[in-house]
Amino acid sequence: MRAGPSQEEIRRHNLGALLRHVHLGGPTSRAELTSRMGLNRSTIMALTADLTAAGLVREELPRETGRAGRPSLVVRPESARVYVFALDVGVDRLVAARVGLGGTILDRREAVRRRGPFSLDEIVGPLAGFARQMHRKTRPDTVCVGVAAAFSGGVSRSDGVIRFGPNMGSVDVPFAEEMARRLAFGLPVTVGNDANLAALAEHTRGVGVGCRDLVYLHGDVGIGGGVIVNGQLLGGHEGFGGEIGHMIVNPKGRPCGCGSLGCLEAEVGERAVLEAAGRFGAQMGRDAVRAVVDAADRGDIVAQAALSRVGDWLGLGVANLVNVFNPEMVVFGGMLREVYLGSAAQVRSRLAVDALPPSRDSLRLRTSALGDDATLVGAAELAFAQVLADPLEVLARAGS
Ligand SMILES: [Zn+2]
Repeated sequence: MRAGPSQEEIRRHNLGALLRHVHLGGPTSRAELTSRMGLNRSTIMALTADLTAAGLVREELPRETGRAGRPSLVVRPESARVYVFALDVGVDRLVAARVGLGGTILDRREAVRRRGPFSLDEIVGPLAGFARQMHRKTRPDTVCVGVAAAFSGGVSRSDGVIRFGPNMGSVDVPFAEEMARRLAFGLPVTVGNDANLAALAEHTRGVGVGCRDLVYLHGDVGIGGGVIVNGQLLGGHEGFGGEIGHMIVNPKGRPCGCGSLGCLEAEVGERAVLEAAGRFGAQMGRDAVRAVVDAADRGDIVAQAALSRVGDWLGLGVANLVNVFNPEMVVFGGMLREVYLGSAAQVRSRLAVDALPPSRDSLRLRTSALGDDATLVGAAELAFAQVLADPLEVLARAGS
C-alpha cells in the first residue's frame, strides 16, 4: 500500500497554492485566503510567513477596511522583486518582456520581423539581446525565476525543439537549448506553441477566467488554437494536439501551407480574407484585415462578401469544435478577433444549422480580452509554472 503524502509534500503543495492565489488574484487578505483555500488561520499564517521570508510575498495593512475590528493583513506578490522573462516569436514580430510575479509587465522590447524562413540566430540573437538589456537594468535584490517562449509552430514538449513551423520554414530547430545558451542566466528555457499559450492566458487571466471548458482560436498568418477541457490544455500524445487551423472544412477548397486542401487556416486565414476582398499583396498583417472589416462597415460590398464567405467557413469550423468538445465558451483571438467581429452574423447562422442544439444553447462566443499580448502573457505564465509548483525550492536555486 502506498503511503499518503508526507507533511512536507502537503506543505509544499499549499505554499504553491497560496502563491498561485495571489499571483492570479492579486493582493488578498489572510481571511479571504483562509476561506478560499479551506485551511485554518494558523496554517495560512505559517505559509505566508515562509513565503515572506523567501521574499515571494509581503504582508501589509489594507488601505481601508470600512469595518470595525482588527483588519486582516493583505498578502501581495513581490512583483518588483521576483520576475520572469517572457519571449514571443511571432511571424511578424519578436517580443521580450520582464514580467513580475502577479503578472505585471515591468519592461518590454519589441522588434518587427520580416516574414519568411529564418536562421535560428536571427531570432535568438535579438531576443537574447533584449533580455540582457532588461536584465542589466534590474536592481541587485531582484531575482529571475524562469524563462519561457511562445513560438508560432509545433513545439516538442519534452525538449523545446521546434518540430515544424509551416509559416516560418523551420523544421527541427533546437530553439530552447540555443536560447538558454545565449542568455546564460543559468536557467532552462521552456517553449510552447503560441496559440496553446494564448488559450491558457485567456483561461487564467482573460475572458475565460472561471471557465472549465473553452476553445480558443488564434489567427496570425496561420490559424492556431487551444482546447481547454476541465481546466487543462489538451495536448495529445506528444503535445502537438489542438491544431485547429488544420481541421479540414472544405476538402475541395484552397491549398494550405501544410500541403492539404481546405483547412480552416486556408479558408479563414489572413491570405483568404485579403484575397476574397481583392486586397492581397498590397498590405499584409492585422492592420490589413482590420481595413477589410472597416470597409465592410462602411458599406463596401466586396469587403462584405469576403467576410460573409470567410464567416461561413469559420462558423462551420466552430460548429465542428462545439459538437466535439461542448465548450462553455469559444474565444476568437489575434487576427480572428477582427474576422469574427466582421462576420458574427454569418458565424452564428452557421452554428444554428450545424451545431447540435444541446451544445449550442449554452455556448458563449467571445473575443480575446488580452488582445495582442495573449501569447506573451501565456509565455509568462509558462515561465512562472515552476515557481508556483515549488516556490521555496525554485527560489533557493535562483538565488544561489
Ligand atoms: Zn493545413
